Amino acid sequence: ETLDKGLEKTKTNFFSKLGKAVAGKSKVDDDVLDNLEEVLVTSDVGVDTTLKIITRIEARVARDKYVGTEELNGILREEIAGLLSETDQNENVGLSVPEGKKPYVIMVVGVNGVGKTTTIGKLAYQYKKQGLKVVLGAADTFRAAAIDQLQVWADRVDVPIVKQQMGSDPASVAFDTLSSAVTQNADVVIIDTAGRLHNKVNLMNELTKVKRVMQKVVENTPHEVLLVLDGSTGQNAFEQAKQFTKATEVTALAITKLDGTAKGGVVIGISDQFKIPVKFIGVGEGIEDLQVFNKYEFVDSFFK
Ligand code: GDP
Repeated sequence: ETLDKGLEKTKTNFFSKLGKAVAGKSKVDDDVLDNLEEVLVTSDVGVDTTLKIITRIEARVARDKYVGTEELNGILREEIAGLLSETDQNENVGLSVPEGKKPYVIMVVGVNGVGKTTTIGKLAYQYKKQGLKVVLGAADTFRAAAIDQLQVWADRVDVPIVKQQMGSDPASVAFDTLSSAVTQNADVVIIDTAGRLHNKVNLMNELTKVKRVMQKVVENTPHEVLLVLDGSTGQNAFEQAKQFTKATEVTALAITKLDGTAKGGVVIGISDQFKIPVKFIGVGEGIEDLQVFNKYEFVDSFFK
């Protein structure tokens, strides 16, 4: 399974720590719970979510009087699945394109370096593979490199891209992109945006303007605001999610670089804290290395 590949480091690390946390103990007691708390926090599940999980397990131990440490795996699995089931799941999961939304417009946000461009390229590839017509929009006009990088992906995937020169108005690029998509009868539009967090008000104003202008071409767009977070940055990813959800209405998350990190616990913490569905995870640099995320499969794969 490819999900296993992406989670390998996180799993190995987690279960080795969990093993140490219960070593020599047959019963889940306060010591074990303290150790477990540390395992969860150091696996980047986040303090708030960790406390929720610990509280649930404490309640179970209090109720059942005796809980053996060999049951801990199963209990963790149940409690984490329960927690994640409280996260909204949008009606349009993963790569499906909802009826009546043509073109289906995805605005992609996130700070530089998180894997935004790569994620857009991988997404374009997957939609195209399904036989859908994709158009990209280079509305991150702040850096010349951002436009060039998106062009590289457009060439690689062989999809059209709408761009202007560096420094042009992102809203104008978004407008052109949607107009072009409508003319071409495209199915999916993916718009890159600049992710400058140093000034939240500017970010908010820019994204608001881009949205307003898009709506002049296709009503109720963007249909999706996809926030890309770098999973390997652990707590930074939480912080970015906090900032972006304040600046705009984020409807879905993509968490990248889960391969090669032991910090995959962020997926659990971020799902729980922000109640926004994680729709995609990035598990490599290659064009195929983007997976549609399903929280139930995730828990199953994790505790298998
Ligand atoms: P942007 O600045 O947010 O657009 O970031 P890029 O898309 O340019 O990606 C930054 C770096 O992260 C590049 O070297 C990508 O190849 C790499 N990258 C992106 N996604 C993943 C992923 O899921 N796994 C790994 N290992 N690398 C990734």
